[in-house]
Amino acid sequence: MKMYSLSCKDMDMEKCNYVAMGETKDEVIKMASDHFVKAHPKEANEAMEKMSKEELNEKMMDNIVEKDDEEDM
Ligand SMILES: [Zn+2]
Repeated sequence: MKMYSLSCKDMDMEKCNYVAMGETKDEVIKMASDHFVKAHPKEANEAMEKMSKEELNEKMMDNIVEKDDEEDM
């Protein structure tokens, strides 16, 4: 089964250890967005001033890592 993950570090939050994981990219993006707004409201505001929602989504898409669970067995 494939899993997708997106770490906050990859979204320029170097001090945050949060990693969103899910079975679909949409799920991961939703989790990461929720976390980003709640945990980093200042950065989230700044990012939204600089980028459109679409651009932010694209940035998250680019940083999503695909994992194959079977590899770990
Ligand atoms: Zn974070």
